[in-house]
Amino acid sequence: MSVTAFITHRDCHLHDMGSYHPEAPERLSAISDHLIAQGLDAYFTYHDAPLATFQQLKRVHTAAHLERLKRASPDLGIVHLDPDTAMNRHTWQAAMRAAGAGVLAVDLVLSGQAANAFCAVRPPGHHAERASAMGFCFFNNIAVAAAHALAAHNLSRVAVIDFDVHHGNGTEDCFRGDQRVLMVSTFQHPFYPYSGTESPAANMVNVPLPRGTDGEEFRRVVSDLWMPRLREFQPEMLFISAGFDAHYEDEMGGLRLLEQDYAWVTGQLKELADDCAHGRIVSILEGGYSLSALARSVAAHIRVLAEL
Ligand SMILES: [Zn+2]
Repeated sequence: MSVTAFITHRDCHLHDMGSYHPEAPERLSAISDHLIAQGLDAYFTYHDAPLATFQQLKRVHTAAHLERLKRASPDLGIVHLDPDTAMNRHTWQAAMRAAGAGVLAVDLVLSGQAANAFCAVRPPGHHAERASAMGFCFFNNIAVAAAHALAAHNLSRVAVIDFDVHHGNGTEDCFRGDQRVLMVSTFQHPFYPYSGTESPAANMVNVPLPRGTDGEEFRRVVSDLWMPRLREFQPEMLFISAGFDAHYEDEMGGLRLLEQDYAWVTGQLKELADDCAHGRIVSILEGGYSLSALARSVAAHIRVLAEL
């Protein structure tokens, strides 16, 4: 059995964009409640997410973006940055924790204190671009983590894997053309944010999926289009943008994955990591809005990471 680090922080529950917003604090409670109910909680090592530093954030974000967000942070109430993305007085701190979780995950895995790590954090990150917040995202958590592995630990090749129902436009924006990074992704198309299909960079393997795509077709895409490119690239570490909103029960999107599909793809990635990356995987929560399906899918994902 390998040690899986579980990284979260109570500050991540305090970011709240309004009572009807699907990206809600209850998402994290649903995950931890289900892990306890399944008796899985005993198998992880728990860590509080630290705050990311400006130096860590500035590896992928512009200084102007950080200053604009900090200035927008309200003392009271909710301010909208776009129709979907809003800040309350805790958002800044929660976003710094969410990005810091990925940094700690990298340090734990690369120091050998954990075989791999899962970050149960919010706000999510993969829509956040170098210079802008959007789509429920403020800082690009997975990009900050991958950049930390490259800059602070001198890795030379890392892979980013994104199976959220939405295209990770922000991560693509951060790493487009960066030969140290290979990003593979699947996403429903056409669908928000309507990107990822026109002239992706050579280091992007973007696979748009039509509405209604099921697990069988998803597995075929992973086997035929992701895995050969990943094996050829020989990453030294894997970063998973783990969004679970492509689940059949998730009403945000129109794909039909089930928790066993998330377990399967995690197994494929774990095998690859064991072959070429000393098993190193950092996985960070992105989307997933049906609370029951989200919790079951996260459990299926981290069961495989922890070899339970
Ligand atoms: Zn999503």
